[in-house]
Amino acid sequence: MVRLEYLVPPGAVDDVRIPMEILKASVLWIGKSQDYEYTGETYRTICMNKSNFGGMENVGNTTIVTDAALINEHTPDTGLLYAHAVIVHEFEHNQCGSETTMETPFDVWLNEAYTVDVERQFMADNFDPSFIRLFQVDGIRNPLLGPLAIEDAGHAGRIVRDGFNDPDELIDGVTYVKAAEVIRMLRLIIGDDGFLRGKTLYFSRYHNGNATTGQFFECFEEASGLSLEQFKREWLYTAGYPRVTASTQYEALSGRYSITFRQEVKQGQAPFHLPIVLALVDDNGRDIGGTERVFQLREPVAELVYENITEAPAFASMNRDYSFYGTFRHSNATPESISLQARLDPDSYNRVDAMRQLTDHERTRLLLNPDDTISPHWLSLYGEILSDRSMPSALKPYFLRIDEQPLDRAYAAWYQELVAAREKIMLAVNRRYRDELLELFAGLDTYTTSKRQSPKDGIEDRMLKNILLELIAIDDSAASHTLILDHFKAATTATDRIAALLALNRSSAPQRRTLIEEVYLKWHMHLSGYANYLRVVAGGTREDVFEMIETEKNRPGFDIRQPTWSRALFMSMAANNKMVWTSQGIRWVADTVIELAPINAITSGRLLNTFQHVNSLKPRLQECVRAELERIARSVSRTECPTVHGQASAYLEGS
Ligand SMILES: [Zn+2]
Repeated sequence: MVRLEYLVPPGAVDDVRIPMEILKASVLWIGKSQDYEYTGETYRTICMNKSNFGGMENVGNTTIVTDAALINEHTPDTGLLYAHAVIVHEFEHNQCGSETTMETPFDVWLNEAYTVDVERQFMADNFDPSFIRLFQVDGIRNPLLGPLAIEDAGHAGRIVRDGFNDPDELIDGVTYVKAAEVIRMLRLIIGDDGFLRGKTLYFSRYHNGNATTGQFFECFEEASGLSLEQFKREWLYTAGYPRVTASTQYEALSGRYSITFRQEVKQGQAPFHLPIVLALVDDNGRDIGGTERVFQLREPVAELVYENITEAPAFASMNRDYSFYGTFRHSNATPESISLQARLDPDSYNRVDAMRQLTDHERTRLLLNPDDTISPHWLSLYGEILSDRSMPSALKPYFLRIDEQPLDRAYAAWYQELVAAREKIMLAVNRRYRDELLELFAGLDTYTTSKRQSPKDGIEDRMLKNILLELIAIDDSAASHTLILDHFKAATTATDRIAALLALNRSSAPQRRTLIEEVYLKWHMHLSGYANYLRVVAGGTREDVFEMIETEKNRPGFDIRQPTWSRALFMSMAANNKMVWTSQGIRWVADTVIELAPINAITSGRLLNTFQHVNSLKPRLQECVRAELERIARSVSRTECPTVHGQASAYLEGS
């Protein structure tokens, strides 16, 4: 038996009803799936109004940032997902973090990676698992704070660090996201049973004790009988990610289907040991019996051979569910086989990914030649998916969303061109399918409150509806303005309201500023409501966006020392590539980093990540960003804000 307590700000008791349900579900789920029971009498959660991190475990007293710890009318779906994640995460820390913990600060990644892995299993059990996996991979590819972007910048990436100036440097996208992928890959490599035996050994051997990274892996080696030397060395002690390509070949006469995997190995580096989950798929979209594998790639080049494949497979579905962290490309896939995969792959993740590869072809063409047009083939496949009523609503939003991020990481820092390419693709969809988009939008009822028993209900429909809204509103027509306003008026959830306001703040609708000001008056007294409003302000793409941000900063109710608010206002602009990559935007980033550094070095440092790819920018932009980085390095004190100063200097050094 365990007593659960929640310490909330005065008057917020009602807002804790759902989080308490999530906490109860977490405790039971951890007991059942992780075979762990809390040993204390009371488990207490304390809401923290001001925090740079989502939560922090302390034996018996967990803190969670109030914006995530309470669920109310201002909680959007992303907040609800985050609340599920952070609540189970902090509870799991009792086992991995409190009762068994790291030996040194260099092993801190271990506590986080293992705990995030448990948190992700909980998420997959509580929501649609492919929806959750797609959501996680979005995090991996996040252009600002995602680990791939951090690694591309070339200043960080090692999971086990070789030094640090400040403990905060040990906790970032690499620790939480890349490291959690390492635990996921470990499970794929040694199998579920081996993993279970390994972790049971770890938590019993080091119960109420400390363990090092090496001791953690020894448990899994003992339990599985496999050597994890190569796995450990490359994933933990080297920066960078594997870039894998596959080429496939089928000989009808002999029934031999072979796949050659290649990974790029940089000079002075050894190859990664990584798992590739795959199967061959037939023309009806079914896995060909006996072809499912977890192929372990350890060498620079390796071949996988299937014998007795009597009919040519439609395609090989490889790297299912993003089975390894890095990039993957099927080098001899044809547009036809990729289209087939987008229609038929039984692995939902790969189906979406196939569509993204086709979109990436369109994007790359537009990046290189902005006057090019969208291919009719791509448009007709898009239309097919749009009108496919049988597609689960967990997948459809991911299929229809036009990403700004390219899959081909060579173009990851072409920010201005990526914005233009995305708009062009969205406009082409709008022109061709406006009626269908409107019909689908109208057919999705996200307003009727009696349909929702829990705030989770309808989460996928809301995501889809708001992606449709973006596709419709991209034309900035008067009819779209009316639709945005109607959506706002009819909305009964924070998610719908925020999406409508964001669309409004990107439009030329005459009511824009008046309505946004009305929303300020209604929401600014509420911690989370005001944060949502600030996200809307900084998500704007009209000429007055920087003036609007300045106005917010000067309002008496705004407090730059409140991390929830400064994150909402500043990080939303950092992600707003259309506006931040203008000369005004670049200056704004530098000014804000300098102003914020002595107040909140963590948010200031995250904001500075905007400039992490300075070396990959085109010459004119690069010159401008370098000048601002020099100004930051001059203005931010090396002694008072070593992290931010060091980060700016590191970006400059590489160039
Ligand atoms: Zn944690």
